[in-house]
Amino acid sequence: MRIFAAGLGTETNTFAPFPTSLSGFETGEYFPPGSHPDEPSFSGAPLWAARRRARENNWIVVEGLCTMAEPAGITVRSAYETLRDQILDQLKAALPVDVVALGMHGAMVAEGYDDCEGDLLSRVREVVGPDVAVGAELDLHCHITDQMIAAADVLVTYKEYPHTDSTARAEELIALLVRTANGDVHPKMSLHDCGMIGMMHTPREPMRSYVDRAAALEGKDGVLSVSIGHGFPWGDVADMGSRVLVITDDAPEKGDSLARTLGDELFAMRDNTAPQPLAIDDALDTALASAAKPVVLADVSDNAGGGAPGDSTFLIDALRKRKIGNAAVGPLWDPIAVATCFDAGEGASLPLRFGGKMCPLSGQPVDADVTVGALARQAVQHLGDTPSPLGDCAAIHLDGIAVVLTSVRTQAYSPDLFTQVGIDPAAMDIVIVKSTQHFYTAFAPLAADVIYVAAPGVVAPEFTALTYRNIARPKWPFDKGGTQED
Ligand SMILES: [Zn+2]
Repeated sequence: MRIFAAGLGTETNTFAPFPTSLSGFETGEYFPPGSHPDEPSFSGAPLWAARRRARENNWIVVEGLCTMAEPAGITVRSAYETLRDQILDQLKAALPVDVVALGMHGAMVAEGYDDCEGDLLSRVREVVGPDVAVGAELDLHCHITDQMIAAADVLVTYKEYPHTDSTARAEELIALLVRTANGDVHPKMSLHDCGMIGMMHTPREPMRSYVDRAAALEGKDGVLSVSIGHGFPWGDVADMGSRVLVITDDAPEKGDSLARTLGDELFAMRDNTAPQPLAIDDALDTALASAAKPVVLADVSDNAGGGAPGDSTFLIDALRKRKIGNAAVGPLWDPIAVATCFDAGEGASLPLRFGGKMCPLSGQPVDADVTVGALARQAVQHLGDTPSPLGDCAAIHLDGIAVVLTSVRTQAYSPDLFTQVGIDPAAMDIVIVKSTQHFYTAFAPLAADVIYVAAPGVVAPEFTALTYRNIARPKWPFDKGGTQED
């Protein structure tokens, strides 16, 4: 068995005010052929899984480029074409192969390409022909398109949000592709458009039981795989929306029926798949009223993982105006302020301007007399077992508030974001994290309560207020019934 594995992706927020460029990939996950580390990455999860199984099975894995940029605006055309063509050239050099396995996102948009994954998979298919098993792992915030389905044999999305299962799903992808290449199974993909879009938090009911029920269908009665594509609300492309994908062993009618049933169930839950965010002052009032501490507040609107800058100051501003102390905030992206703090050194006091730089939805910069706390070069946090770079980090302290400034634009995944620069989140009254939901797995165990906050921001939760030009309609919540019959 000869497997070619590579990865290319980002989650494109078509409303974000800055582009995704080549440097966005090079400063994100970027592993040229042969340089992928032993630990997993998101773009390299299929490669990582193929490597692991190759050792036991005597397979050959030919490694291509694996790269994923932090979400931002539309990808620069030349950046996408450059990376795509590198992977295609590496694939051509690797021929003949039995399997092609790609790590992608599923919501990548570039200038001239509304469906980068469909484009890449189609070109892969042209290169390898009809008899090679081609597949991809996708983030569940994907737009699953007909072009992807036509070009691939197997698509597998994450099941969990937070995305703690990228390695488990990659293992399933590789196993299914190898079985396909061996002729043991004949996958047929059935895709159902649910006629809706929304945020869906899988640790909570009713999503928890729904995902468990979908997973329990796999591996029996001819069902090979079930994926729930949540969709990404900030991607203004025709195929944006929630879709159910069922893969059967050559039983497409059964797959169609099951996908529709699961899609109808999801549509019926549409009002209850995530908690309602609170306005800033309501969130702070609720946190202050809580007898147990700390209360974790998620600044969902400035989540870099959804394409926001990660430098907004609205919540810090509210803390200072209301003289609320014993609070920690992180991460806040400001490489210039980080460099200034490293120049000043640990323990230094200085007047510092930080945050509020990238766009009007970043708010105003904060000007304050700060004390520099601990500094950390090339710090890392984890989402599940996958490491993610924070870059250089500086803790600053002002008015009883501790802020973690980072040189890499990213969201909060785990408390080591704070602890590695000397801030103990468990000892705080209020911990503000910039993240929509990935923070949840690691922060919920230390939180007395978790509150989602609707501050202004590039990924503010009221996406119905955005002006969409390209999405297919009708679709709930923009239209009452979606494409379903009420
Ligand atoms: Zn996602």
